[in-house]
Amino acid sequence: MIEKRQFYINGTWVDPVHANDRAVIDPSTEEPCGVISLGSAADVDAAVAAAKAAFPTWMRRDPAERIALVEKFLEIYKARQGDMAEAISTEMGAPIDMATASQWGAGYSHTKNFLTAAKNFQFIRPLGDHAPNDRIVYEGVGVCALITPWNWPMNQITLKVIAALIAGCTMVLKPSEESPLNAMLFAEMMHEAGIPAGVFNLVNGDGPGVGTALSGHEDVAMVSFTGSTRAGVAISQNAAKTLKKVHLELGGKGANVIFADADDKAVKRGVLHMMSNSGQSCNAPSRMLVQREIYDAAVETAASVASSVAVGSAHDAGRHIGPVVNESQFNKIQDLIQKGIDEGARLVAGGTGRPEGFNRGYFVRPTVFADATNQMTIAREEIFGPVLTMIPFDTEEEAIAIANDTPYGLTNYVQTRDAKRANRMALALRSGMVEMNGTSRGAGSPFGGMKASGNGREGGVWGLEDFMEVKAVSGWDAEMA
Ligand code: NAD
Repeated sequence: MIEKRQFYINGTWVDPVHANDRAVIDPSTEEPCGVISLGSAADVDAAVAAAKAAFPTWMRRDPAERIALVEKFLEIYKARQGDMAEAISTEMGAPIDMATASQWGAGYSHTKNFLTAAKNFQFIRPLGDHAPNDRIVYEGVGVCALITPWNWPMNQITLKVIAALIAGCTMVLKPSEESPLNAMLFAEMMHEAGIPAGVFNLVNGDGPGVGTALSGHEDVAMVSFTGSTRAGVAISQNAAKTLKKVHLELGGKGANVIFADADDKAVKRGVLHMMSNSGQSCNAPSRMLVQREIYDAAVETAASVASSVAVGSAHDAGRHIGPVVNESQFNKIQDLIQKGIDEGARLVAGGTGRPEGFNRGYFVRPTVFADATNQMTIAREEIFGPVLTMIPFDTEEEAIAIANDTPYGLTNYVQTRDAKRANRMALALRSGMVEMNGTSRGAGSPFGGMKASGNGREGGVWGLEDFMEVKAVSGWDAEMA
């Protein structure tokens, strides 16, 4: 049992002001694997005060020095890959091989991409030849509250912390109470890298406690949040009183539009993408829209691919999918599968209950519904489990209308061999990202959504700019660069 009751504040590990233990549960076994403390407003006050005190010096530090410290962190992160993968796998259920490659890997590549973007970033730049003594200065926003979920923990933590560090912000991280152990390891790495006291702080806690104290704190200049749309609304409302900058990365209900001329692997690829991380990805292609000519064959393929997806313990090596994160997610997914059946969608793979051979652990059967309409609950709500909803369509216009008929707008996917149509679709779909024919977005590409999927962009140069203020200066001494 891992005991990590302290918080990282002002460069050191400190006890919570009020003891309030919370067990961390291993979703593969339903057994406790660790214990942390849930913090309170008093812990938040201490962490924000440390971040506020550290801000003026950190903000004015030469960006090259901030970048050098992040490079040091990256070396440590690489050296502790195994520890990090183990923590993520145990507390949120990503199978160990996947946690080692993808979950750890997401943090690694985001950090590398930020370093590349930062080295080319002009923190002080000219306005233009017409105003030779004007400069545009990019500087850190101030003290940031970084609130993250459990599903891709190192992905989200590095997208926020590394960008904020390079931008010149100081910060308080509140990781998800479901997956705090990886964040505690991350804090150890920040310390070892020599990030100055007060620049990075970590307070564990839940949404109503620490989350609310952070989003309403008068000394916090910006909240960067990834999580549910519900919490995003609550945070925005609470932050409004102090006019904070609020960056939101929320849920999704992505369409994967498969035209009749798509490549042969398109359906299989879409199903496997949906099942990956047990469906717990905000950008999961959860609505598969299939053109009528190939619809029946696509349903058959999808059912057989889903039935072949192995489910197993996160502790076992292999390419299976693991459990979902906790009991409440398990129950929510079960209810939504039942709703799909009750509302008349055709169940062609999986269903309610645990997969055969499991009577413990939050394991869900890889499930596919066919003949759904876009008005059914399983087509509208984010299920956050390994559940795919298939909907037929006839024309390109109809596909666009169905794809865009959702409150969300995070990622949409298109499968077609017609290049002109691919471009038309890219322009017509209302989402922050559109991915074609199984090609993922390039390194340093911006991640984020429209509509109920949030605002702002993370990653690469856009992710750095999100943590910066833009200051316009006249009368600059041009000799000074
Ligand atoms: P959640 O909103 O319940 O929790 C996320 C974080 O917010 C946790 O740290 C939680 O403690 C905190 N929180 C909850 N309520 C809060 C409140 N009122 N004030 C302040 N903080 C609060 O979400 P979750 O269940 O952990 O994560 C799953 C959700 O995250 C899904 O909806 C998923 O789509 C979304 N997500 C979005 C992205 C993205 O980039 N768009 C990425 C991953 C996950």
